[in-house]
Amino acid sequence: MALITMKFGGTSVADIERIRHVASLVKREVERGNQVAVVVSAMAGETNKLVAWTNDAARNANNLALPDQREYDVVVAAGEQVTAGLLAITLNAMGIKARSWLGWQIPIQTSAVHGSARIEGVPASDMKTAIENGEVAVVAGFQGVAPGTRISTLGRGGSDTSAVAVAAGLGAARCDIYTDVDGVYTTDPRIVPKARRLDKIAYEEMLEMASLGAKVLQTRSVEIAMLHRVPTRVLSTFTPDVGGTLLCDEEDIVEKKPVTGIAYSRDEAKITLVRVPDRPGIASAIFGPLADAGINVDMIVQNVSEDGATTDLTFTCTRGELARALAAIQTHAKDIKYQDLIQDAAVAKVSIIGIGMRAHPGVASTMFRTLSEKGINIQVISTSEIKVSVLIAEEYVELAVRALHSAYELDAA
Ligand code: ASP
Ligand code: MG
Repeated sequence: MALITMKFGGTSVADIERIRHVASLVKREVERGNQVAVVVSAMAGETNKLVAWTNDAARNANNLALPDQREYDVVVAAGEQVTAGLLAITLNAMGIKARSWLGWQIPIQTSAVHGSARIEGVPASDMKTAIENGEVAVVAGFQGVAPGTRISTLGRGGSDTSAVAVAAGLGAARCDIYTDVDGVYTTDPRIVPKARRLDKIAYEEMLEMASLGAKVLQTRSVEIAMLHRVPTRVLSTFTPDVGGTLLCDEEDIVEKKPVTGIAYSRDEAKITLVRVPDRPGIASAIFGPLADAGINVDMIVQNVSEDGATTDLTFTCTRGELARALAAIQTHAKDIKYQDLIQDAAVAKVSIIGIGMRAHPGVASTMFRTLSEKGINIQVISTSEIKVSVLIAEEYVELAVRALHSAYELDAA
C-alpha cells in the first residue's frame, strides 16, 4: 500500500462524464490498496472565462482594466472549487469515501504575491489523517492562502504545482500528473509529427524544457519535484495504461544523448538600444530601471564597440512585458543616452536541451550549422550547461524546430 497523489487537468474534468472517468481511475487506485490525494484543475476554459470577467468588471471610464489582484484571486480560484466538490460527490456516489479540500483548509500556505503566489508550506496533517482513515482527499488545485487568510492563486497552470507540493507535503510515494497527452515529447508533436515520447527525463532537463516554453508542466512544479525528489509521472487520462514519462534523477538515465528535447517560445520580444555610451555603469543604468519595473529580462547581448565610444545593446523579455519595458527605458532615456531604440515582437526563442551536452562537444555548432543551412539568421544566443537558446524571426520557428529535431536524430523511425 502506498500514498499517492493524482492530478487531473482541465480537459480531464471538462464535464460530468469526464469527471466520472476520473473518478473511475481514482477508484482503481483505491482498489489496488493505495491511499489517494487527488488534485484537480478547473474545467477546461473555465479559468479563462473567470479571468475575462475580472477584467470586464474592472473596466473604468478610461477603459483601463486592472482588477485588484486579491479579488482577482477570489474569482479565478472558484473554478477549482467547483471541480473538487463535483469529484468528491462523484466518488461518494460510486461508493468511495471522499471529501474536498480547499487551499485554506489544508492549508496550502503561499506568499502574498496575488495572481502568481509561491507555495511556502503545506502542513497537511489534518488531510493526512483523513486519508489514513480511508477517505480520498480531493484537493482544489491552483489555490492557496496568503498570510492573513486571503485566497491566493499560483499563476496559470498552477495546479501542477499544487499537486507536486501536496505530494511533497504528504510524503507521497509518487505524483501522477494525468493530462491530455501521454507524456513528455522530444518536442511539440503538433509541429513535429515525428516527435517521440520520452520514457524518462531528468528533473533538470524538464525544468529547462518547461521554462523554455514546453507547456506540459508548470515550471514551478518541476522545481518542487526536483527539490523534494518527488517521483513524478506525466500520463494520459484517456489512455492511462500506455506510455507516460517519468521525471527522475540524472543517474537513472542510462543513454544520455547530446540533446534530449527541443523547446520553443513565441512569447518573446526584443529591444535594441543603438549607440549607447560604452562606459562603466551603462548596463546598470539600463537594467536597474527594468528590474524596478518588475521586468524579467532574459537574453542580453552587448556588441563590441567599433569606435570605443558607443555600443549597441540588445535584450529580450516576454511580449506581455514589452510595453512596460519600453516605458521604463524611455523614462530613463536621459541617463541611458541611447541614439535610437528598435523593438521587435516578431521573434521567437528555440532551445535545445540535454544533460548529455556536458559530455558531447560540438552540440552548439551543429545547431548553428543546421539553422544556417535553412537560411535562418540567429539574432541572439544564450547558453547554460545543459541548453543552448537562439532568438530567431518568429516566422521560422517551425522550420527551425523540425530541422533541429532531425539534426539531433530525435525523429521517430
Ligand atoms: N485552472 C488554472 C489555469 O487554467 C490552473 C490549472 O489548470 O493548472 O491556469
Ligand atoms: Mg496544465
